[in-house]
Amino acid sequence: MSLAFGHPVIAIPGPSPTPDRVLRAAHCASPDIYGEELPKLNQQVMEQLKHLAGTSANLAPYIGNGHTGWEAAAANLFAPGDRALLLVSGHFGASWAAQMTEMGIAVEVMDFDNAPPQAERVAARLAEDRDGLIRAVMVCQTDTASSAAADIPAIHAAMEGHPALLVVDAIASLGCSPMHMDAWGVDVLISASQKGLMCPPGTAFVWFSERAAARGRTALTTPIWDWHLRAKAEAPWRFWSGTPPVPQLFALKEALHMLLDEEGLKAAWARHAALAEAVWAAVETWGKGNPGIRLTVAEPVGRANAVTALSLPGADALRKWTSEKAGVTLGVGLGAKDPENALRIAHMGHCNAAMVMATLGAMEAGLSALSIPHGSGALEAAAQVIAIRA
Ligand SMILES: *Cc1c(COP(=O)(O)O)cnc(C)c1O
Repeated sequence: MSLAFGHPVIAIPGPSPTPDRVLRAAHCASPDIYGEELPKLNQQVMEQLKHLAGTSANLAPYIGNGHTGWEAAAANLFAPGDRALLLVSGHFGASWAAQMTEMGIAVEVMDFDNAPPQAERVAARLAEDRDGLIRAVMVCQTDTASSAAADIPAIHAAMEGHPALLVVDAIASLGCSPMHMDAWGVDVLISASQKGLMCPPGTAFVWFSERAAARGRTALTTPIWDWHLRAKAEAPWRFWSGTPPVPQLFALKEALHMLLDEEGLKAAWARHAALAEAVWAAVETWGKGNPGIRLTVAEPVGRANAVTALSLPGADALRKWTSEKAGVTLGVGLGAKDPENALRIAHMGHCNAAMVMATLGAMEAGLSALSIPHGSGALEAAAQVIAIRA
């Protein structure tokens, strides 16, 4: 039999669960796009988004997804043949590098083998670049595939004295982990609507500093990508290079109100940290009875708040079991060395202790049902973290 009937628990790292309130906010007819309501709404959402990123710098919004944000940033930052140093801690960093290479950018990959970047290696590489040919250092704050988290201030410190810009992909981390774009010296920040921002997929955002803006246009900066046209725009059509994504704007306003005004950003970061810790406690406890069950990122400081990647013998069968028998969908082992025996648990965006305990409880049942050896007491260990942190 199946016990999956009921409210599904979707624990995949994006799109993350969208709150009903956000879906309802989006469910309305568009006002006159030449009227007064829309420019006001647009302005309000842009201000909320700057507050979220910790910046008073420029913001260019795009209709699209995270890949759109990558391309938008690159089209403004680089001319064909320009050099970039990309710090790769997993599948997403590698895909970012591949996309930029296809655009004709000379991407140099520094690979950290699914672990967080080491600032010393970055400093050593930049020290060799005496002519300052590397125009940007690029890094995912959270690589959603490995769940490795980069220490952005440490990378910024490692870049001291070098003219490269610091470009950060915060697609899986914004709203989940601290981000202080201006205070941390981030020049370009990229994110999208469907992860920590709790909205449906469809919009991407690129925040950029005056230093980045001063680089001017390149041969890749065609009108649709040009961030200057959008960031300095008054009329909503200019902002979005055409019709604004009206339902997205209503959704974003509601989601950002929940995040910034109701819960508060610091509380949201603390919630994500506590839920992540509960998941780690459970996985480590299972691992005591099975050396094959282990977190992908060894050091707790290098682990993301929003998602946890792990190795687990029989992961594919377990994912199938939790989905068919218990109504819990887990993330695939994207980018893992042995993807059939790896999975990811998302605890991202609109996610609470009950959802995390439901996910872990379904996994526990599945491990028993499938006779996958595991240590006992994982749910108690997770509950203990929640009891202490709540
Ligand atoms: C999800 C994600 C992307 C890609 O976003 P899409 O919306 O799927 O294009 C890029 N980088 C990171 C870190 C992500 O988590």
